[in-house]
Amino acid sequence: VNRSEVIFRGGTIVTVDAAGSIATGDVACRDGIIVQVGGDYMPQSSRYDIIDAAGCIVMPGLVQAHTHVCQTLARGRADDLELLDWLAQRVWPYEASLDADAMTASAELGIAELLLGGTTAMLDMGSVHHTDAIFDAALRSGIRATGGKAMMDAVDPLIPAGLRETTKASLDESAALLQRWHGRDDGRLQYAYAPRFALSCTDELLREVSRQAVAKSVRIHTHGSENHSEIAEVAKRFGKENIAYLDSVGISGAHVSIAHCIHLSQAERALLARSGTHVLHCPSSNLKLASGICEVPELLALGISVGIGADGAPCNNNLDGFLELRLAALLQKPRLGPRTMPASQALRLATMGGAAAMGLADQIGSLELGKRADIIAVSTDELHTLPAVNPYSVIVYATKSSDVRHVVIDGAMVVRDRQLLTLDVSAIKRNAATAARRIFRA
Ligand SMILES: [Zn+2]
Repeated sequence: VNRSEVIFRGGTIVTVDAAGSIATGDVACRDGIIVQVGGDYMPQSSRYDIIDAAGCIVMPGLVQAHTHVCQTLARGRADDLELLDWLAQRVWPYEASLDADAMTASAELGIAELLLGGTTAMLDMGSVHHTDAIFDAALRSGIRATGGKAMMDAVDPLIPAGLRETTKASLDESAALLQRWHGRDDGRLQYAYAPRFALSCTDELLREVSRQAVAKSVRIHTHGSENHSEIAEVAKRFGKENIAYLDSVGISGAHVSIAHCIHLSQAERALLARSGTHVLHCPSSNLKLASGICEVPELLALGISVGIGADGAPCNNNLDGFLELRLAALLQKPRLGPRTMPASQALRLATMGGAAAMGLADQIGSLELGKRADIIAVSTDELHTLPAVNPYSVIVYATKSSDVRHVVIDGAMVVRDRQLLTLDVSAIKRNAATAARRIFRA
């Protein structure tokens, strides 16, 4: 239900503004824009909706800076493998088998999980085909999404026939999708070029993506330096370190977001910092694929902007933003000590860091006047969160995604009292089961 005015009343407000302000009172939005943070708000029209946020923390929605909702149906089908085997043996064959209906089922399953868990925005990478089905699901669901089709024009026998494409076809389809989807629904949906990773793309494609992204003012979303075998293969093929290679073909800069960046040389770190390239940290995925641990505090110290994401269901195996947030905070502590990555800093990565990775730092990621109203209310009246003393501690160390009560995106109610208003959850479960049976024949 879209109201002209929505007011969250009675919660503890964690703004994630630059000063880290915490407030009490109302958070109000009008026509999708935040118009008040704290204090008492007086509605300006008769069409308003007051959300009771007593016993809740009211905060910016989580921004997941790296997802693949096209992979959700492969949850549990690719466990206990390392990256290149995981891709070639399980994920690529799965993606090649998707038709438009299965893609819709996969995207809706993933997006519904994200929304009910308090994720209001995603930077998503699709598969090679059926990207319209992902954007269409995002449009109907109410989620804020920046995404694009995966680009895979390299000649590689490990890539299944169903995912192979020519350089021209990959660029043409990307341009057509950009034309159809970029800026849709008042800018809630945006296109990003998504060359999959260095090994699945030709040099020619990457250079052209670099050129077109700048010309069309859109973002580039890719993967890099996730795993030692991948890095060794990049070095063998191109004679360069992975991030250095991407930079050499124009894939770096403030409009570029690279998932993982786990194994970096000092020169590559300096390159990321100098170019303003964003790093997308995926703690569960990096642990499960045994890829390694991204040295996030070291990157932050160089001024590199970092966002957090769940990656895809087959490498996680869920899309729980609060779990990723908790892990991102905990993961650094054994190596660098308990004061490393305090809760307030981790929360900033999961909100503002993601917003910056989507190029939307001035629009979302914090509760501030004039920003788009992407707001969630999270219950702190739970056995596992009481007594709820320090809001940052509650959010990062104790909250579960199932504690999310209300979600507003762009001023529209998407989740109310833990119920998804935009999509039919029973139908999503049924369609996912049917599509998975068809894809896996089991
Ligand atoms: Zn990924």
